[in-house]
Amino acid sequence: ASAQIGVTGLAVMGRNLARNFARNGYTVAVHNRSAGRTEALIEEFGHEGAFVPAESPQEFVAALERPRRLLIMVKAGSATDQVIDEFAPLLEPGDMIIDGGNAHFADTRRRERALRERGLHFVGTGVSGGEEGALHGPSIMPGGSAESYAVLGPMLERISAHVDGEPCCTHIGTDGSGHFVKMVHNGIEYADMQLIAEAYHLLREVGGHSPAEIAETFRRWNRGRLDSYLIEITAEVLAHTDADTGRPFVDIVQDAAGQKGTGRWTVQTALDLGSPVTAIAQATFARVASSRSELRAAYRPLPGGTRQELSPDEAESFTRDVEQALYASKIIAYDQGWTMIRDASAEYGWSIDLGAVARIWRGGCIIRAAFLDRIRAAHAADPGLVSLLAEERFAREITDAQASWRAVVAGAARHGIPAPAFSAALASYDTLRGAHLPAALIQGQRDYFGAHTYHRTDREGSYHTRWAEPARPEVRTDT
Ligand code: NDP
Repeated sequence: ASAQIGVTGLAVMGRNLARNFARNGYTVAVHNRSAGRTEALIEEFGHEGAFVPAESPQEFVAALERPRRLLIMVKAGSATDQVIDEFAPLLEPGDMIIDGGNAHFADTRRRERALRERGLHFVGTGVSGGEEGALHGPSIMPGGSAESYAVLGPMLERISAHVDGEPCCTHIGTDGSGHFVKMVHNGIEYADMQLIAEAYHLLREVGGHSPAEIAETFRRWNRGRLDSYLIEITAEVLAHTDADTGRPFVDIVQDAAGQKGTGRWTVQTALDLGSPVTAIAQATFARVASSRSELRAAYRPLPGGTRQELSPDEAESFTRDVEQALYASKIIAYDQGWTMIRDASAEYGWSIDLGAVARIWRGGCIIRAAFLDRIRAAHAADPGLVSLLAEERFAREITDAQASWRAVVAGAARHGIPAPAFSAALASYDTLRGAHLPAALIQGQRDYFGAHTYHRTDREGSYHTRWAEPARPEVRTDT
């Protein structure tokens, strides 16, 4: 046995992670259900480092140093269970199974529990950065026992992306925490993409700019506080021209957004946790709605807002307003993601270091951005930080954005341009800062039809009003 790590599942992700380990000096055992992928890896990339190809699971396990470290990179879902069932009987107490696939965190919790009973460590690990990230340095979010991280952590940190000399990998917490955090990363990614898309739409439809001009605007923004991978690739996509037609690429692509489901998981889970992730939810629903062609056809003949052309000066100032609105909405969307991680950490006892999550997302992953260093710093300055808006600089920035943010959302409504994520972010902001919410009326309605009781602002206890009686007497219900 000579391999420090084994990778089974050698499609794009597994192959590139295996190469990444090998390029970093590790001896890597490689295995795939169908041997063709293993052979192809050795043939094409065998020269990059020390690989030990294995045809059978037995051969694969025998190639691993103890405690064995076995990384599964197969299709998420039942395939993961099949692979675990196949390999677990070949392992010994203290060995580690690492699942780097996009598993649902509840599945990871279940698998971890079952394997722990057999004395095995199960390390559910979020991996972000796609194919390129896997090869050159992804952001890695391992869950599982502290004991397993002590052995595995240094290896994962070594192959991860690095920013300012720090690895984009940290021990997130026990059992499903790594996959949970990866899920929220993707939820935030949905929100960020939708916000950027809305900014583009407004600049085009209200501002009257061409995709090429908007690409330039995004390039400029990318040199400022919005500097991020997603803004960078947005500029590239907007600047691209279709070779066949000579038209802007965005105009020849069908406007129906797909998804692989992590946004949906985030929203479903947020409802269970009671985390108000409205910008993430709107972003997810916006993708869903874009694909509902029959509904869109039914709505299409109906009137929209009033379009008015902007003067060049107005268009320029509108662009500045959109930047402010985008930045303010981004703060809210990220704050929602962090709230959800905090909520889950409390619910599942994960003790997640919220600043460390920001630190490991600064590089390697899709939402990587300068902005994340600000979030890291905010948590470093105040480890008990309840919200990004409790930090002075974020509070000041969102204060400065007020007029622009509101003008953009109001303008979008007037023009009839959908801005669901901008609107949801602003509504979330106004909800959470509101001294009085109409929730008091909701409590009244609930008490009226369902005797659900309410709390008074001026006295302790639960109360119910007997609405059916003419005098509407109030009774205390908790005594
Ligand atoms: P795929 O999700 O396309 O999965 C293909 C691999 O799974 C092949 O190696 C295949 O083996 C194996 N496999 C499928 N079913 C079984 C089974 N029942 N038993 C054994 N092996 C099986 O590969 P990717 O590389 O795209 O992704 C791997 C994992 O990483 C997935 O969970 C994915 O969600 C996750 N991920 C992907 C990212 C990406 O950008 N693609 C980013 C981050 C995570 P065979 O060759 O024999 O068919």
